[in-house]
Amino acid sequence: MIDTHCHINDPVYISNPEKYVLEAKEAGVTKMLVVGYDLNSSRAAVEIANRFPDVYAAIGIHPSEIKKAGHNDLKEIEKLIKDKKVIAIGEIGLDFYWDKDEDVKREQATYFKLQIELANKHKLPIVIHCREASEAALELMQKHKPHHGGIMHCYAGSLEMVKDYAKLGLLFGFGGVVTFKNAIRAKDVIKNIDKNLYVLETDAPYLAPTPHRGELNHSKFLPLIVDEIANLRGISPEEVILEADNNFKRVFKL
Ligand SMILES: [Zn+2]
Repeated sequence: MIDTHCHINDPVYISNPEKYVLEAKEAGVTKMLVVGYDLNSSRAAVEIANRFPDVYAAIGIHPSEIKKAGHNDLKEIEKLIKDKKVIAIGEIGLDFYWDKDEDVKREQATYFKLQIELANKHKLPIVIHCREASEAALELMQKHKPHHGGIMHCYAGSLEMVKDYAKLGLLFGFGGVVTFKNAIRAKDVIKNIDKNLYVLETDAPYLAPTPHRGELNHSKFLPLIVDEIANLRGISPEEVILEADNNFKRVFKL
């Protein structure tokens, strides 16, 4: 069972990643992708990934972090790509929930484009953060295509838009949200999405699944997400794990 999106590089875990990884393994999590959101967290992701055989790193600058980043940070990110545990560029994308200002939105688009180009240059998939920007992110990626696929992390878009994103070679990440009673759309999407298009994620420390909602999230809670997806798709948890893990391994070449 692969957790395709977690933040062991977050300050709440960084003092003891050993404990985190051990607890996740005990819960049946076989691999983890630690995702960076700025230069420091990307460096931390690489450092942690190098300490554990089944932990990998994604590096990049999150749209809400670009205000404090500079173009020099992108150069530093590019230097980190050489590391053998770096398997993706992310999380990158657009977030219009926190930023409504047009100049900031344009700057987010610039960083998104530059980081897609970086991924293409180094033949890597991308991990996309997209919040209240479904149309804009789709249009941008149709113009600046990711060449090696990726994941729409914590997918909150419609089932209709799945088709358009899938044409770009993208997978769709589902996490704790699918266990929330009121998450009608996410439940509907994971129930109906093609078996070749979804992957599992926790996004720890955020979005802990029911019955831990509101607590600190952890990769060890991934089985709760698997159970709910199995329930919604009408298949066994083992089948969910097989389908989702195969999708991740195919696109991320693991
Ligand atoms: Zn994240």
